[in-house]
Amino acid sequence: MKFYYLLIFFTISQIAQSQPKVPQEYFENPLDVPLVLSGTFGELRSNHFHSGLDIKTQQREGLEVKSAAPGHVSRIKIQHYGYGKALYIQHPNGYTTVYGHLQRFSPEIEAYVKKQQYANESYEIELFPEAGELQLESGDLVAYSGNTGGSGGPHLHFEIRDGSQRPMNPKLFGIEIQDHRKPIINGLFAYPMDEDSHVNHSAERQRIRLIPLKDGTYTTEKINACGKVGFGISTVDQQDMASNQNGVYKIEANLNGDNVFQLNFDRFSFAETRHLNQLIDYEYYTNNRSRVQKLFVEESNPLSLYANVQSEGRLEIQDSLDYNYTIKVTDFAGNESVIRVPIQGEYSEKVQPKQLEETEYFVQANQSFSTEQNGIDVYIPKGSLYQDKYLDISFNGDTINLHKDDTPIHQNITIGFDVSKYEPAEKEKMFIAKLGYRGRPGYSSTYKKADRFTTGIRTFGNYTLASDNKEPWISPVNFSDGQWISNNSNLKVKISDDLSGIKSYRATVNGKFILMEYEYKDNTLTHDFSDGAVTETENNFKLIVTDNVGNTNTYEAKFFRK
Ligand SMILES: [Zn+2]
Repeated sequence: MKFYYLLIFFTISQIAQSQPKVPQEYFENPLDVPLVLSGTFGELRSNHFHSGLDIKTQQREGLEVKSAAPGHVSRIKIQHYGYGKALYIQHPNGYTTVYGHLQRFSPEIEAYVKKQQYANESYEIELFPEAGELQLESGDLVAYSGNTGGSGGPHLHFEIRDGSQRPMNPKLFGIEIQDHRKPIINGLFAYPMDEDSHVNHSAERQRIRLIPLKDGTYTTEKINACGKVGFGISTVDQQDMASNQNGVYKIEANLNGDNVFQLNFDRFSFAETRHLNQLIDYEYYTNNRSRVQKLFVEESNPLSLYANVQSEGRLEIQDSLDYNYTIKVTDFAGNESVIRVPIQGEYSEKVQPKQLEETEYFVQANQSFSTEQNGIDVYIPKGSLYQDKYLDISFNGDTINLHKDDTPIHQNITIGFDVSKYEPAEKEKMFIAKLGYRGRPGYSSTYKKADRFTTGIRTFGNYTLASDNKEPWISPVNFSDGQWISNNSNLKVKISDDLSGIKSYRATVNGKFILMEYEYKDNTLTHDFSDGAVTETENNFKLIVTDNVGNTNTYEAKFFRK
C-alpha cells in the first residue's frame, strides 16, 4: 500500500516538473523551406514575451503558407499594426495554430475576406468563420508569407495555442530546429535585496565578471556577500544557420546543489505577458538596451513560467558560511551554458549605501495616488506600479514631467489637462502629446470632454498639450489626373500626417467604396484592381484622409481603364 502511494506521488511530481504532454508530429512545418528562426517562443520583447516562432522566409515575401494540420479557419484578423494579416486554424484535437504578418490569403480565403471587407467598407476586420465554412486538410495552402503589421522584415509568425488560447512552445510538439550552439551569456549581476544586505561591499547592483573555463563553463571570482541576495543574467541563444539572437528555453539556479529557481518557456497566457517588465531589470534595460532576467521573483509577479522557486529565488547569505551558486541556461535542443558562482558569507560594516532619490511624491503600489498642479492632474490607480516608489514629478506651464521611463507601468495612468483657457477653435486642433526624442511631440490617444482632455499612458515621461493645424498629405504614386492606366494592376497613393497622425482614410471610385490596404511602414495605400470593384472606363477617384484631431484632406483624380 505504501509503495502504491509513493508511486502515485512520484508520478504526479514528475508530471509537474516535466514538459507538458502534447501530441508529437501532429503539426507540420507550415512552410516548404527548412525551419530557420529569427525569433523563438518566450523570447523577451518590448512589454511582452514572444508568443510563437518567427520563421525566416529567405528575405522575401510570397512563400506558400500551409495548414500545419487538418482543421478549419476559425478566425481572420487584419490590422494595420500587430500581426497585420493573420489567420487562425482550429484543429480537431483542441489546439489552434496562428499565422501572422501574411502578405495575402489563398484565393478561396482571400475572396471570403474581401467580400466582408467590402461589406464593412474597412481594411481592418475581424472574422470568425463557422466550422465547415473554410475546412482544411493538413498541408493545404492557406496564405502567402509577408511582412504586414508590426514586422521588421519578411517572416512568418507561427503560434500553437491550447484550448484556453494560451500560446505554447511549438517546439514541444516535435517541431525540430537545428541547433548545436550553446546559449550565450552576456552578463551576470548580483542584487543586494534589502537594507542590510550587500554584495562586494556595496548595497547597489553589481556586475559580476565572468571567467571562461577550458571545459566551456564559466566561473566568477569569489563574491563577498551578506543578507538577502539575488542574481540576474543576460542571455540569448543562437541556432544553426542564422545569426539572430533568440530566446533561451530554460534557466535554472542551484544553491549548494538544491534547485532554488527555474524559468521554463513552455506556455504562458496573454494576460500575464506584460509582467515581463518585472522579470527583467527594467531600469537596466531602459538605460542599456539589454535585458537582464532576474533569477528571483518580485512579490507581485504572477508569471506562470516559474517553477521550483524556493524563497522567491532569493539567497539568505550568512556571515562565515560559504555557498556555491550555479546557474544553468539551456536551449530547446539541450545545449547548456553553466556558471558557477562561489559566494563567501561575510558581514561588512563598510558598505557603499544604495542611492535613493527621495521626492515629495511617494507612491505605494497597492494604493491609488493622485496629484494636481497648473490645471494638470495625474491619477495612478493601484496596481499601476509593481513596487512602492518615489516619483519625480514636476509641472511647467502646460507640461508635466512625469518621472522617467526607467520605471515600468502595468496598467494605464490617467493624465488630465484643464483646457478652459483655450478658444474652441484652438481646442479642436489640440491633443495630448508625449515629448519624444529631441522634444518631438508624439500623439497620445486624447479624449476630449468640454474643458478637459485626458489620456491613458503606460510609459513615464514628459507630456504636454500640442496642436496640429496641418491636414494630412496625399500623393499618387502610379497614376495622375486624367491618365489611362489600363496596364496598372493596382492604384497606389502615399499618405502621411506630421503631428497627430492618421486616424482614418476612405477611398471611392464613382462614389462607390473601394478597398485600399494601408501599410504604415511605407505610408502606402494600395487598391488591387483584381478586386473587380472598378468596372467603368471613366473613373472618378476620391480619397479622404483624416488625422487624429480631425484635419481632413481630400484628393480627387480621374483615371481611365479598359
Ligand atoms: Zn513573431
